[in-house]
Amino acid sequence: MTFRVGAHVSVSGGVEKAIERQKEVGGNCGQIFAGSPRGWKVAEYSDEEGENFQELMADNDQKPYVIHSTYLVNLATPKDDLFEKSVNCLQDELDAAEKLGVKYIVFHPGAHTGSGRENGIERIAEGIDSLDIPESVTLLLENTAGKGTTLGKTFGELREMIDSADTPDEKIGVCIDTCHAHAAGYELREEKGFRDMLQEIEEDIGLERVKVLHLNDSKDEKGSEKDNHEHIGEGNIGEKGFRNVINAEQFEDLPMMLETPTSDGKSYKENIEKIRELRD
Ligand SMILES: [Zn+2]
Ligand SMILES: [Zn+2]
Repeated sequence: MTFRVGAHVSVSGGVEKAIERQKEVGGNCGQIFAGSPRGWKVAEYSDEEGENFQELMADNDQKPYVIHSTYLVNLATPKDDLFEKSVNCLQDELDAAEKLGVKYIVFHPGAHTGSGRENGIERIAEGIDSLDIPESVTLLLENTAGKGTTLGKTFGELREMIDSADTPDEKIGVCIDTCHAHAAGYELREEKGFRDMLQEIEEDIGLERVKVLHLNDSKDEKGSEKDNHEHIGEGNIGEKGFRNVINAEQFEDLPMMLETPTSDGKSYKENIEKIRELRD
């Protein structure tokens, strides 16, 4: 199986520009936003744009693609207006994904902001159930660093969300972010702890439900609950941790996507090269 590794690339100037940017950094799969990451407006693509993007993906052998939802989405919120906006936004993103031939939407489950864990999980399930998920798209819940009232810090909690929803299981998957897992207290560097994490994933959510990995090193200590991404191998997960993750037989066939920093001189190109170097 072809090893799939790519980066979160910009769609500025048109969604088709993502393919060229991906090529420049040496990726063969990738992630985009369908609009602004900090706004509610989701791009509406014409049939022509959709077909063009699908053709470009095929011609350049870049697959799969993921749309990362906007950071404003919070399905766990007790506030009705925010909840409604979040559902509508996710629906627009799902529709955009269908049009572009993008296989997955990944989103952060949200924060209950004081209403309590149970209420938050119920709300997330309600939100998922009110979505009309297109045939060709799967909705992915991303594990989180777990700061404050943010839900989805543990794999068990992600499972609770999936179980609480009536949506068929095969329409909901999981994206595992290495920086978030490390921040949440999971061990990626030491053999024993890493095995324990794999076992927890297997038992709590099932490996078949894990569809995508986000590869990010972390600027902070394990268990810090802080979400500060670092270049691969240069943070607290380090080369040893990434060797474990990308070569684990449980993960080796998954598409892996980078969300490493882009504003400090080092590009995705070096990070993708590093991942290929660490791959057995
Ligand atoms: Zn994310
Ligand atoms: Zn991520």
